[in-house]
Amino acid sequence: MIARVALEIALRREFDYLVPDELRELVAEGTRVKVPFGHRKVLGVVTAVRDDSPHTNLKAIDKVIGGKSLVTPRVLELARWIADYYCCPLETALKSVLPESVRREKDGWKKQLFARALPLPAEMPKLTKKQQYVWNILEEWRELPMQELIRLGETTADTIRRLEDKGLLLISSQTMERDPYANEHILPTTPLVMNDEQAKALDTILAALGDARPAAVAPSAKATASSSKVFLLHGVTGSGKTEVYLQAIARCLEQGKGAIVLVPEISLTPQTVERFKARFSSGPLRTLVAVLHSHLSAGEKHDEWHKIRQGRAKIVIGARSAIFAPIEPLGLIIVDEEHEHSYKQEEAPRYHARDVAVLRGRKEDAVVVLGSATPSLETYFNAKKGKYVLLELPHRADNAKMPIVRVVDMRQEMRRQKGSPIFSVQLREAILQRLERKEQTILFLNRRGYATSLQCPACGFVAQCPNCSVALTYHRKEQKLKCHICGFDSPAPTKCPEPKCGSREIRYSGLGTEKLEDAIMQGFPHAKLARMDSDTLKKKEDYRRILTDFRLGKIDILVGTQMIAKGLHFPNVTLVGIIYADLSLHLPDFRAGERTFQLLTQVSGRAGRGDIEGEVFVQSFTPFHPAIQYARRHDFLGFYEQELEFRAQLKYPPLTRIALLTIKGRNEDKVAFLAEHVRKELEPMLKEMEDLVIAGPAPAPLARAETFYRHQLMLRTRHMSSLSKRLNELLKHLKLPEGITVTVDIDPVNLF
Ligand code: ADP
Ligand code: ZN
Ligand code: ZN
Repeated sequence: MIARVALEIALRREFDYLVPDELRELVAEGTRVKVPFGHRKVLGVVTAVRDDSPHTNLKAIDKVIGGKSLVTPRVLELARWIADYYCCPLETALKSVLPESVRREKDGWKKQLFARALPLPAEMPKLTKKQQYVWNILEEWRELPMQELIRLGETTADTIRRLEDKGLLLISSQTMERDPYANEHILPTTPLVMNDEQAKALDTILAALGDARPAAVAPSAKATASSSKVFLLHGVTGSGKTEVYLQAIARCLEQGKGAIVLVPEISLTPQTVERFKARFSSGPLRTLVAVLHSHLSAGEKHDEWHKIRQGRAKIVIGARSAIFAPIEPLGLIIVDEEHEHSYKQEEAPRYHARDVAVLRGRKEDAVVVLGSATPSLETYFNAKKGKYVLLELPHRADNAKMPIVRVVDMRQEMRRQKGSPIFSVQLREAILQRLERKEQTILFLNRRGYATSLQCPACGFVAQCPNCSVALTYHRKEQKLKCHICGFDSPAPTKCPEPKCGSREIRYSGLGTEKLEDAIMQGFPHAKLARMDSDTLKKKEDYRRILTDFRLGKIDILVGTQMIAKGLHFPNVTLVGIIYADLSLHLPDFRAGERTFQLLTQVSGRAGRGDIEGEVFVQSFTPFHPAIQYARRHDFLGFYEQELEFRAQLKYPPLTRIALLTIKGRNEDKVAFLAEHVRKELEPMLKEMEDLVIAGPAPAPLARAETFYRHQLMLRTRHMSSLSKRLNELLKHLKLPEGITVTVDIDPVNLF
């Protein structure tokens, strides 16, 4: 028996190993193994099992890791597709499909010592006073973790071991399952009665899922009939999409299948998780809901993952990488907020979890539901073409009205008030009104720090990061200048650092959340205020604490970056202010308009989710920009149509697909030279692929980051799979000089 193995050290090829007799039973596709490689032992995954090998003198597999194959054959197939399509080595793709803590050689269970009382011996041994005290406690509890007994008995491990010697108790090690939500008290919920729109959407999804009978009985041939199984659930914020998800999952459980729910990391709030746990915590469909996200400890991730692998958790809710969760059989995949850019991984493998979801659904004959209030152009385009089925929820479920959105022209405000005001007169009035009425306000500004640049009017100096081509941001509380790209920081100067100048007239300009917070304290001295951005949230409890305070009404005004744009649901918030809506509009990215439209719609959606109608103020210097105007009117379709026209004219996605090649290195000339060389290597493809367009090379919008210069080539085609194939070949043969790297990003969401 021969096993083909992909090794964890990236070599872009697989190796054959002999399977020793004693491991035969354990080795299958997807098994993790340890094998000799040169003088080392390395970890890898079995990708195929066969009878012979073209190679001779094969070495044998050392050992099997983790028993049952950790990568299911289906997930292995996904990894192969990712490697091909996203142009990365299979080993790199495989690394992503298992959490780090599950991949480790040592098994990751947490063991804890327990003391358990034994039946009393015929003759009670003599005990010291201290021993007797401890024994009394254990006799009562029968079993306790050692640490707990030590605490309760105010004693030491030694005393307890003495008791073991006397035959009164037994100390043994047991596996402790870590549950990140153990302390949460969750009240069960039951399905809501759906409104007509929800019912229609749900019925269509249920029809695709098939009958309620367990999967084994249902004639699967009928279910696989060519009808599409991918749905776009386009529903305004608060339209009750989550309730549709919950009831679709219930059907899936009735059939004996499981579900994967993807949500963006940022909206994986305790509130969201709770809604899923609450529905399936009791009743006949009771199951564990596993949670996977980056704020869990490695141990917690390990245990959550194994709950899924063991089949105890039939539902997993998680961020991007949860798309690889080993749910079997899989009935349903939900991708909430499918337009979110965080579904794209920004390091190899550069996969897009939404696109992987669609592919996994197809391979496993599972239904896929993509949900959003502001679908990406790509997804909506697919729905319009009939590739996905479009389901619409145009109204809020609880009959709450959509908020009134007022766009404020800040150019006029500049004239009206002196200088550059942070608040327009209207917004200031509205905040005062809310404070009076004891209602809550959210103020949104997507830029942290105090000021965005330090300039010297005397000599023109601007503080730049020494490692990146960006200006440094001033953080006042820490009195530091910081780079938001590489993390560089230096003390904030009090005079111009230019040696010949030294002027004390230096100016900090541009607005960040820290300064906004200051302005609120000055403008509304009696308001209770909290700020939420990655500078204020240092510990993992901070987020939860601020949200709880906000819910309890201990905070009047919540200020934050996009961290507060999503998923929050507070009925008493009746006002949302978007301080500077243009911020994302002028980025050098063809998606700037789309991003702005989405952000404005999402943020506006935080207002008026209770009985009182909400109001939103959008402050802008370009108030007539289509992205702002369509968002004001809650007109997704209008926005989509004009944006699609613009994309069509420029041959951008969704009408084509993009591959972005970035050449990086510390020596700028070398980078430029190599970029030209890559362009030449690509040119033959122009003849083979008729619709291929190659732009560049040119310096990237972020021309230098973390000391590396960056040049880019942008390739566009409608036939990405065949371009991927060619790029994979190219990468295999491309000879790179020392210090230069080339990355390939297929379907990039970030063009910097
Ligand atoms: P979305 O996920 O589309 O943003 P939610 O599922 O969060 O919307 O629903 C918004 C609010 O409406 C929630 O408070 C939810 O409990 C409520 N809701 C949803 N469906 C119904 C229904 N059929 N009847 C009454 N309330 C509903
Ligand atoms: Zn100066
Ligand atoms: Zn930097």
